[in-house]
Amino acid sequence: MTDIAGNLERVRAAIERAAIKAGRDPRSVALMAVSKTYPAADVSTAFAAGQALFGENRVQEAQKKFPALRAAHPNLKLHLIGPLQTNKAVDAVSTFDAIHSLDRPKLMQSLADAMGKTGKRPGCFIQINTGREPQKAGLAPEDLDSALARAKEEFKLPIVGLMCIPPVGADPAPHFELLCKLARRNALPCLSMGMSHDYEIAIAHGATHVRVGSAIFGSRA
Ligand SMILES: *Cc1c(COP(=O)(O)O)cnc(C)c1O
Repeated sequence: MTDIAGNLERVRAAIERAAIKAGRDPRSVALMAVSKTYPAADVSTAFAAGQALFGENRVQEAQKKFPALRAAHPNLKLHLIGPLQTNKAVDAVSTFDAIHSLDRPKLMQSLADAMGKTGKRPGCFIQINTGREPQKAGLAPEDLDSALARAKEEFKLPIVGLMCIPPVGADPAPHFELLCKLARRNALPCLSMGMSHDYEIAIAHGATHVRVGSAIFGSRA
């Protein structure tokens, strides 16, 4: 069995070390436990070990897993980190406390409509395809400024930061550096970057939200 509490303790200690090494306050880095594919019981175990922020990459999976968990743990927070279809926008703003995968103008429109309809306004991160991978979601870096202007002025969306997933196998540092530069230039406070294998590097480059799954819950089947 996976030692979820022990893993959490190790990850927290590594976050603290990485933050201090970077001259940052460890409290400026939020640890998100990515619970996709893991059962609700594992989320409860993590919650009992002091973990309140969770991430899921599919709306439907979160809708199945989290209502009971939220009822049991009112201060639990849940963020969406995976691709979002426009027809799921109402479900997404109703289910999640933040959305990290805002990646196209059409979705901005749908989220704005969904927020108007539900009165819920989860903070949004714009996803950037820093590696310019054709199969990967996210805006091209050069399209950010105009998209951000539309998100704020036309759609009045609560944009809080940027998110990226560096290409598999590549050195993630230049990708994190680029995301940090883009966020600074646009005065966005939050940076969602870093996963199990590279969250310490992400912290060195300014990550405020690290998305850690397998290092906490064990490797996915
Ligand atoms: C699954 C996932 C993670 C967590 O990945 P691990 O390697 O298990 O830490 C982080 N971010 C996104 C977008 C994911 O889909």
